[in-house]
Amino acid sequence: MRKLLLYFFISFFTISNLLAQQPKKPNASQIFESIKKLNFLGSVLYVAAHPDDENTRLISYMANHVKARTAYLSLTRGDGGQNLIGPEIRELLGVIRTQELLTARNIDGGEQRFTRANDFGYSKHPDETLAIWNKEEVLSDVVLAIRQFKPDIIINRFDHRSPGSTHGHHTSSAMLSLEAFDITNDNTKYTSQLKDAGLWQAQRVFFNTSWWFYGSQEKFDKADKSKHLQFDIGAYYASSGLSNTEIASLSRSQHKSQGFGNTGTRGSQMEYIELIKGEMPSDKSNIFEGIDTTWNRVKGGTAIGNILYQVEKDFDFTNPSASIPELLKAYSLIEKLEDTHWKNIKTEEIKNLIYNCAGLYLEAVAESNHATANETVNLDLELINRAAENIQLKTLQINNDASVLETQVLAKNEKVALKKSFTVKADQEPTTPYWLTKKGTLGMYQVDDKSLIGKPETPRYFNVTFGLSINNIAINFTKPIVYKTNDPVKGEVYKPFEIITEASAKIAEKVIIFENDAQKEIPVIIKAGKDNLEGFVEIAHPKDWSVFPEKQKISIAYKGQEQTVVFTVIPPKNQSEGLITPMVHVGNNTYTKELIEMDYDHIPFQTVLLPSESKVVRLDIQKRGENIAYIEGAGDVVPESLQQIGYNVITIKPEDINAETLSRFDAVVVGIRAYNTVETLKFKQKALFDFVANGGNMIVQYNTNRRLKTEELAPFALELSRDRVTDENAKVTLLEPNHELLNFPNKITENDFEGWTQERGLYFPNKWSKEFTPILSMHDKGESAKKGSLLVAKHGKGYYIYTGLSFFREFPAGVSGAYRLFANMLSIGKENMNTENVLKN
Ligand SMILES: [Zn+2]
Repeated sequence: MRKLLLYFFISFFTISNLLAQQPKKPNASQIFESIKKLNFLGSVLYVAAHPDDENTRLISYMANHVKARTAYLSLTRGDGGQNLIGPEIRELLGVIRTQELLTARNIDGGEQRFTRANDFGYSKHPDETLAIWNKEEVLSDVVLAIRQFKPDIIINRFDHRSPGSTHGHHTSSAMLSLEAFDITNDNTKYTSQLKDAGLWQAQRVFFNTSWWFYGSQEKFDKADKSKHLQFDIGAYYASSGLSNTEIASLSRSQHKSQGFGNTGTRGSQMEYIELIKGEMPSDKSNIFEGIDTTWNRVKGGTAIGNILYQVEKDFDFTNPSASIPELLKAYSLIEKLEDTHWKNIKTEEIKNLIYNCAGLYLEAVAESNHATANETVNLDLELINRAAENIQLKTLQINNDASVLETQVLAKNEKVALKKSFTVKADQEPTTPYWLTKKGTLGMYQVDDKSLIGKPETPRYFNVTFGLSINNIAINFTKPIVYKTNDPVKGEVYKPFEIITEASAKIAEKVIIFENDAQKEIPVIIKAGKDNLEGFVEIAHPKDWSVFPEKQKISIAYKGQEQTVVFTVIPPKNQSEGLITPMVHVGNNTYTKELIEMDYDHIPFQTVLLPSESKVVRLDIQKRGENIAYIEGAGDVVPESLQQIGYNVITIKPEDINAETLSRFDAVVVGIRAYNTVETLKFKQKALFDFVANGGNMIVQYNTNRRLKTEELAPFALELSRDRVTDENAKVTLLEPNHELLNFPNKITENDFEGWTQERGLYFPNKWSKEFTPILSMHDKGESAKKGSLLVAKHGKGYYIYTGLSFFREFPAGVSGAYRLFANMLSIGKENMNTENVLKN
C-alpha cells in the first residue's frame, strides 16, 4: 500500500526518463500539482476486466485534472492474452501485464488493484465466465476493493445490460461492480473484511459509454442523454507541457505486450458517462456534485485546510522549500486525525511533499540484486538534503529489525554515505508474485494470506526506514532496498532487490515430444544462488518412463553461474504422457523450482519462481513429407513444435516467397494472423497457390476477419467470421469420417480431441465455395453447429487447408491429438511418399 501511494503521489507528471525502479525526482511544477492534489479529498474507482480495458483518458483526467484519488480495478491480470514482446504466456504474461498496468498508472497518476480472478481465455457470456470464476470470491474481492479504497464514484468500463455482446469477462466486471455497490455498506456481507476495511457506500456508479456502444456516432448523437454526464478530457496541462490525451497515450503505450502503442492527440474531446445508480448531478460536468471534496469532509480537517490552501496560494516556484514550515504544521495536525482512512492517505502524500520540497534523497543500495537465506548483504546508504532547513538523521531501521540510533546532521547539499549490512533470515521466503505460490484453478488464483488479496504485487519486505528530524519534527521515510548498476548504453539501471533459492533448475523445453520410441538427451540447467554450490540432481518421472543416469553431481563455484547436466530419457512403447521434474539436492534441502527472470526496459526486472516441470509425450504418430516452409504471422511456436515431431522447418521471409524457394518444400504453413500483420503477403498469394497447384500443401492458420491485408485468402472463395468455439471440451463431430485428412497416415477419432486447452478455435470461416470440404463440426453450448474449423480443398495437384483450430495453443501444451491431426494435414496427398526419399536438393 505504501509503495502504491508513493507511486501515485510522486509520479505525478513525471513522464520522461521512465526507467523502471528509478526514484522520481519531481520539479517545482510537479510539486505544485501535488499540493493541489493534497487539497482534494475525493476518489474514483474505475472497474473493468483486463489490463488494457481501462480508459486511460478518463483515468488521467480524474487523477490530473480533477485531482481525485483514482484507481483502476482490473478483475484479472490478463494471463489469457497474447504476447507481442517475448515468449512468455499464461501466468508469466500475467506478471508482465500486471507490471505494465503499474507503469501505466505511474504515468497517468492512478493506482492499481486486482481481484483473484484469472483470465482463463475468451468467454462469450457472463454466465460462462461466472461459472468458471468463483463468483462469490470475485464479488468478495470487488467488495473488498471498494471497502478499502472507499471511492465516492465508481465508473464501469462496460455495460452490465448487454451480456453476450462482448467478452464475458467484460460484462461480468460491470455486473459484479453493480452488485458490490449495493452491498459494501451491509454489515452482514463478507463480514471477515469488516474489521480492517470497514463499511463503505459509494455515492454514484456510472457506465463509461461512448458512440462505440451504440454502433455508430449517428445513433449515439440521437440517443437519450438525460442520464449522461460529459466532460472535455482534452485539457492541457501547462505544468507538464502535455494535453491530458497525450498523457493517456503515454500510459496506454505501456501495454507493450499487447501491441497498444498509442500516438497522443491534442485538443478538445468529450467523454461520456451514464449514471446507473445514485443521484444525478444537476451540473452535468461535475461528477462530485454534492460530495464535499475539501478538507472540511474530515473531522479536524478545517484547520489543516486553512494551512494547506494557503501553502497552495503562496507556493514559490523558485524555492519550494519555503513551504516546508507550513507543511510541517499541517503534517502534525494530519497525524492527529481520527479518520484513519484519510489520515493514512494524506500522511503519505504530505510526507512526500516535504521530502520533495527539501530536495531530500534517501537511498539504500544492495551490493547485488539478489541474495539467499542466511546471506549477509552489504548496503550503501546515500542521504542528502538540499534545503536550508534543520534536518538530521536520528534513527535507522533495516527491514523489520529494531530501529537503532544514528545521529547525523544533513547539512545543505552535503552528501552523507553510510555502510550497513543485514543478514537474510534462515526461513526467508524467496521472491515470487504472491498469487503464483499455490496452484489455483482455471478461473481463480489461490491466495492463502488474505491480507494480500487485491494488492497489485507482493509487498516489498526489504526496506530501510530513515528516521529524520525536520525542524524538530520526527518523520520516517521508508525506502525499498534496490540494486543499481551502470550500463554502458542505458546508463543508470535499477533492479529490485530479491531473494532467490540456493539452487534452481530448468529444462528449456516445456513440452518434449517423442515421435517414436527413440530415447532423447535432455539437458537440465542448474543455476547457483550462492557461491560454492555442491549437490546432486535427479529427475522425477512417470513410472513407465526411464531416465539415466539416476543421479548426477553438481559443483558450481559462483553465484549466478550455471551448470548443464544431460539426462537420457527413454519413452515407453505406447502412447503415454507425464511430467518430469529436476530435483536438486543441496545438503538437507531439495529444490524443484525454476527461477525465471524477465528483463524488459518498460517494467521493473521481474523474478518468478515456478515449479520446474516439463511434459513428456510419447506420440503414436505417422507422417509424410519432410521439409516445411513456415511464414511468420503474429507469432506462434508451430515451427518448434513441428521440429519436435521430426519435420525440417525453415522460416522464410515474405520477400523470399517465389516458385524457386517454394519448390524445395513439401508444405507451407502460415503463422497465426499473418494476413492481418504481414502487408507483403498479398503480393505472394499467386506464388503460394501455384505451389499448391504443383503438388504442395498449404496450411493457413487463423486470421481475424477485420483488417485483412488481402481479399484473396485462398485459391477459392472463403469468408471469415467471428465464429469461435471457446469451450475446449466442446464435442467434435467428424463430418467426413472417411476423408483422407482423418485417416492418413493417422486414424483420427474423437479421442484426439480430448485434453485440448483454452479453446477449440476462433474466427472460423462461415462461407466457402464448393471446392472446400468441411471436416469437423463443433459448437459452444446453446449455439448452432460451426463447420468452418477445418476446411480442405484440392487445388491442382496439392491441397489448400484453412483452419481456425487453435494449434498454436495446443502444441505448447503437448496435446497429442493436435499433433496427429496436423501431421495428417501436412501429409495429405503424399501416400506414395515415405519420409526417407523425399529429401529434395
Ligand atoms: Zn478486455
